[in-house]
Amino acid sequence: MSIEKLHKCIKEKRVNHSHSREAIYAILLNADSFLTVSQIEKELTESYPKKVSLNTLYRHLSFFTECKLVITIQDSYKRTYYSLAKEQPMIFGICPKCNGVKRVSVDVGDLSDFLTGTDFVTVHKKCKKCL
Ligand SMILES: [Zn+2]
Repeated sequence: MSIEKLHKCIKEKRVNHSHSREAIYAILLNADSFLTVSQIEKELTESYPKKVSLNTLYRHLSFFTECKLVITIQDSYKRTYYSLAKEQPMIFGICPKCNGVKRVSVDVGDLSDFLTGTDFVTVHKKCKKCL
């Protein structure tokens, strides 16, 4: 997943280029796990010189979702987490105790046919800390 996919979608949807949108995309591109809106907002404050309203942030995030560039998952408190979509389905563990979300690196191997068309799988399982 790269910035080209974002540019392709901007072209298809005929929307204007936006620096704040690219800055948010870059944050997701550099993150190795899911981020909440407040984490994205915090990183944006550090990496982007202008103030971006929460409304704008949500608007850009839903644009990414519409373009299928980003996937969202919700924990049991209905908190939403955002991550860039990958070519291969991703597997996430959500800990029911501390609510931590972690990407699990497993080889999808034999499951790959079964998972075709799936963006991600979440497994509800206690994390190492909480076991
Ligand atoms: Zn835990």
